[in-house]
Amino acid sequence: VDTATTGENRQRVTVEMQRGDGAGVLRVGVRSLRKGDLPAAVLFIEDITQQKAASEARDGFVAQAAHELRTPLTNIRLYAEEAIEYGSDDPQVRAKALNVINTEARRLERIVGNMLSTAEVEAGAPRLSMAEVRLEAMVSELEDDYRALASEKELTLKFDLPPKYPVVFADRDKLMLAVHNIVGNALKYTPAKGSVTVRLDADEKQITVDVTDTGIGINPDEQEKVFERFYRANDNRLSTVQGTGLGLALARQVARLHGGDITLKSELNKGSTFTITVPTHAKPVGAVAA
Ligand code: ADP
Repeated sequence: VDTATTGENRQRVTVEMQRGDGAGVLRVGVRSLRKGDLPAAVLFIEDITQQKAASEARDGFVAQAAHELRTPLTNIRLYAEEAIEYGSDDPQVRAKALNVINTEARRLERIVGNMLSTAEVEAGAPRLSMAEVRLEAMVSELEDDYRALASEKELTLKFDLPPKYPVVFADRDKLMLAVHNIVGNALKYTPAKGSVTVRLDADEKQITVDVTDTGIGINPDEQEKVFERFYRANDNRLSTVQGTGLGLALARQVARLHGGDITLKSELNKGSTFTITVPTHAKPVGAVAA
């Protein structure tokens, strides 16, 4: 600071330091401002905790993604082996194996879909491919995908659906990915015996999907942060739950690109409600930052 103030050192100097209380990382910098004879310097302090956390998370992303791909792949291999060995004698074994292979293949599709969408967003050019969407078909696909997981985890999964569905215009795959991420999270972050309710409301103007769970909940301080890419809540119950911190960021991005949004109400240890709203006839919005 002394040499910057006197102008001896005119270069900008920055250092990164851990906060004394261990609660974050600060970047402290100093730059000479000296004009004529007046000694002066600016000292700036920036909290880069989030940036640091995001870059560390990004570094771990490839490892994490590989890990997430491995579980479904292993299941597919094991059940394919089972079907090959015993399937021709036992139709029940064959049916179960095909069912697991089908579910796991869909899970792989979703993980890869998330990765591709992330890459697209990273490249700064996320695009929607708009078409007429059949909501009933989306809902029954969602039910099929999550029934087994819910009963495996001893969770009650309820769907509260409208009597009629309007004609919807949207990017089906991206919208499905967004809803999947939210419903998948609700099941993931709700301990056994809890419940998850998916409520769908749709009229000529707007589609609203409320996903309510009786899960671990999210601290008020973190309720905005969980929508940031790579952010995972600072909750030690997460250590046993796999995740990349990408799902919510992508889901919100998709909703916003459709001209809608995702909001969250949550109480720690009680549960959360994520609400997705999109216009029924979406007119895609230009790229929106997540
Ligand atoms: P992840 O792959 O970690 O699940 P997401 O972007 O989908 O990533 O979610 C970000 C974080 O938000 C999660 O790590 C978790 O801390 C929190 N979260 C998301 N959904 C829920 C939920 N339904 N209940 C509690 N916490 C949640």
